[in-house]
Amino acid sequence: MSERTFTIIKPDSVEKGNTGKIIAHLEGEGFTILAGRMTHLSRTQAQGFYAVHKERPFYNDLVAYMTSGPVWVMALERDQAVPTLRKVMGATNPADADEGTVRKLYGESIERNAIHGSDSPENAAIEIGFFFPASDLA
Ligand code: GDP
Repeated sequence: MSERTFTIIKPDSVEKGNTGKIIAHLEGEGFTILAGRMTHLSRTQAQGFYAVHKERPFYNDLVAYMTSGPVWVMALERDQAVPTLRKVMGATNPADADEGTVRKLYGESIERNAIHGSDSPENAAIEIGFFFPASDLA
């Protein structure tokens, strides 16, 4: 059944010119882009987006990194979109990610790991709503 998920092509990927390759990789895995744009997260946006991690020791570093440069935010669709994107992304730490995954190919560290992907359909809906009005997804 068709499902939606949300991704961020993170600042390290945009900085290194990997945006196009990552989008092509995702399209090659059968994802359709429903909505997408380049943006530069404010501190408030990054803090809000990652609020679930605010007690974690790496929270301040994560907010600094996610606001360090432009990103691409995208709403994606395919069957089983959430688990499929998690698989295509690879493990959080690129060193542990399977061969051929986006994080293995383009990530450089547990923090600068190329891409974000929603971890549940519920969070996907919240994250899509964080960046896109419903009219963008029609
Ligand atoms: P994800 O769902 O695989 O992205 O992983 P998490 O939700 O656990 O973490 C969110 C993001 O925080 C990750 O994608 C990394 O960019 C960053 N992160 C996770 N763990 C660490 C860590 O131990 N140290 C640092 N510096 N960043 C981390």
